[in-house]
Amino acid sequence: MEMIPVVDLQKQYHSIRAELDEAIAGVIESGTYILGREVTEFENEFARYCETGHAIGVASGTDAIELALRSCDISAGDEVIVPSHTAVATVAAVERAGAKPVFVDIELDRFGMDPQAVSASITSQTRCIMPVHLYGCPVDLKPILELARSNHLLIVEDCSQAHGALYQGRKVGAWGDAAAFSFYPTKNLGAGGDGGAVVTNNPALAEKIQLLRQYGWKERYISSVKGMNSRLDELQAAILRVKLRHLDAWNAQRREHANLYLELLKNTELMLPVQPKEDQHVFHQFVVRHSRRDALQQYLRSQGVQTSILYPVPVHLQPAYKTSGAQVDPLPQSERAAREVLSLPMFPEMTLAQIRQVCRSIMSFYAL
Ligand SMILES: *Cc1c(COP(=O)(O)O)cnc(C)c1O
Repeated sequence: MEMIPVVDLQKQYHSIRAELDEAIAGVIESGTYILGREVTEFENEFARYCETGHAIGVASGTDAIELALRSCDISAGDEVIVPSHTAVATVAAVERAGAKPVFVDIELDRFGMDPQAVSASITSQTRCIMPVHLYGCPVDLKPILELARSNHLLIVEDCSQAHGALYQGRKVGAWGDAAAFSFYPTKNLGAGGDGGAVVTNNPALAEKIQLLRQYGWKERYISSVKGMNSRLDELQAAILRVKLRHLDAWNAQRREHANLYLELLKNTELMLPVQPKEDQHVFHQFVVRHSRRDALQQYLRSQGVQTSILYPVPVHLQPAYKTSGAQVDPLPQSERAAREVLSLPMFPEMTLAQIRQVCRSIMSFYAL
């Protein structure tokens, strides 16, 4: 029996091998490895893709969030409202910027932050709301944008799982003051290592991020502000330029796979992911919920189907975070999600036969 993996990056490489090998060799041949033409071109192409004025390549998604916040002058004493059901990176980056993360609950349909919870968490210290478009599903941004507008708050979107997703016909990342992307290898757009980017329509923020990512240099070796080292390198940019050309086709394949899953699983007890009509989910993960999640996962493993759990413990209950700062109220929907979510195999190169086999294995779990 052949294992069905959750993601298969070798298969992706083999499908674009010639293009990638040429791009990689080109960089090595050029002798320029840091902040050269590949990074500049990638930034232009990615900004155009995201429908934003600017994109700045940085070393990771976590750094992208930190730098986006720092460019907005968010620092010690400021509060940033974040969901707890997210990658720990979202929260770690807020703390790296010096600010205090304030956790809110989610809604279980899109797994996005609950606007009512956001509203209830706004204090005189709040500076920013950070919606996370988790699993590739766009957050319902309208009520959150409205809250930000009426309370004079900034919006920084965490788009690390949602490259190319559309909210009301427009790309995620183009709605807030700034947005962060990760190019961690397994993301919908992934590098051959770490990488990230900030996108923004605000030229002043873009300029500041460019300074901050390289020691605050406007002029070489002269720091005009205190910065850090967080650069996207030329090799990663060259790889990303190749893959960006395939992103829409890959996302379309993910959506097709999702539709087949939804069709084949519609008569099971599984809670299936929603696909909001006016929006475009890009299915970074295909996440189902089930009350006996752990038993299901174990059974699927015995059938050769790999699955994963994003994320098993909400951030506010993780050892590193539950004791820090103020007491956090229970977040029932986030805690429920952590108990029930299961990511089924999902990658563009999956075959229909693989999807059918995953679904057959799920059916046989119910027949037990
Ligand atoms: C991957 C991810 C990040 C962090 O990205 P890195 O590139 O690994 O630093 C942040 N937020 C979310 C939601 C992510 O999925």
